[in-house]
Amino acid sequence: MHATSRLCAEVVAAIKTVVGHDKQQLHEPRFKGNESRYVQDCIASTFVSSVGPFVNRFEDELRTLTGAAHAVAVVNGTAALHIALLLAGVKPGDEVLLPALTFVATANAVAYCQATPHFVDSEVGTLGIDAFALREYLLANTVIQDGVCVNRASGRVIRVLLPMHTFGHPANMEALLAVASDFHLRVVEDAAESLGSYIGKRHTGTLGLLGTLSFNGNKTITTGGGGAILTDSAELGAKAKHLTTTGKMAHRWEYTHDTVAYNYRMPNLNAALGVAQLEQLPRFLSQKRALFNAYAAAFAGVRGVQLVHEPQSCTSNYWLQTLLLDTPDAAVRDALLDATNAAGLMTRPAWTLMHHLPMFRDMPRAPLPVAESLALRLINIPSSAGLVEAAT
Ligand SMILES: *Cc1c(COP(=O)(O)O)cnc(C)c1O
Repeated sequence: MHATSRLCAEVVAAIKTVVGHDKQQLHEPRFKGNESRYVQDCIASTFVSSVGPFVNRFEDELRTLTGAAHAVAVVNGTAALHIALLLAGVKPGDEVLLPALTFVATANAVAYCQATPHFVDSEVGTLGIDAFALREYLLANTVIQDGVCVNRASGRVIRVLLPMHTFGHPANMEALLAVASDFHLRVVEDAAESLGSYIGKRHTGTLGLLGTLSFNGNKTITTGGGGAILTDSAELGAKAKHLTTTGKMAHRWEYTHDTVAYNYRMPNLNAALGVAQLEQLPRFLSQKRALFNAYAAAFAGVRGVQLVHEPQSCTSNYWLQTLLLDTPDAAVRDALLDATNAAGLMTRPAWTLMHHLPMFRDMPRAPLPVAESLALRLINIPSSAGLVEAAT
């Protein structure tokens, strides 16, 4: 217990060295650019809802930023995942492979398609799906039949591999894409947390068939609520737009629809906020990197924890700064959470693993030793952009 109280005191002190003595949230949005102006312009135009120039501008700018050929703005990241999975061909009764270590939205979107989430393990280096373990698992547990991957235990088709870029750190997509190709899986990337994160020069969310972003209030940029679907396929891009806009057929006056679709379009009011926030993104990213560097210096001498850094050959957006305890120990983790929150520094553990949630308890899963260990080792610490100014 002595070692634990020493660690708690050192962690609180290290965070305070960086962020000062004020209370800190985990992640707060910042509206110091053109946010008010664009939202006011939007209100003055009366186009606050599902059509308007800010939506088109936001989508154009997302294309430019990410390099995706098509970007469709939607109401939130969960809706983006739902549509991306449908467009990747997920049908009722299929299975989708995703990490157990993720936010519940990733698994919920699979359930919305009446498909079964099938949980796989993560790796320490990227915090994303472990491609090596996944390959071994699929070799042992699936067969390729008529060009699709079949789970031998359930007899169901495994249609899609759904990696997630945890806290903004890119998953090992090169290895995951190789596994997907060998096992006939389509790839949808949950890039909700990784706007501004790159693998080499490729933006996360553009390496699979489709990718999704989130602009919720706690993400790197926010539209209030919002998300986007990214794809290089003209056909899927057009379908994404169609399915998220009630399946309405383009016509000057007729109101006609050719499919049961969704009202998932991002309102113009939210897109106005998004356009202003995108202008701030380069600044947020350098501030977040500066915050990482400051924490790295502050934690250099603290034994028992490491600060999570970007994977090799990748550029992370450093959305959430993360401590990794040397040993998985719930008592130590909870003591640290207690000490930091009591000191006014908001911290939190990783999400409850998906297979521990009541609705996903009976879903199929690979052995999850690393995810189980990471859940006891990860702590997110105050991460707002602007806590430390970037050198200019
Ligand atoms: C934020 C997030 C989403 C989407 O969340 P919304 O709140 O619906 O925008 C999806 N997956 C992950 C991993 C997330 O962190």
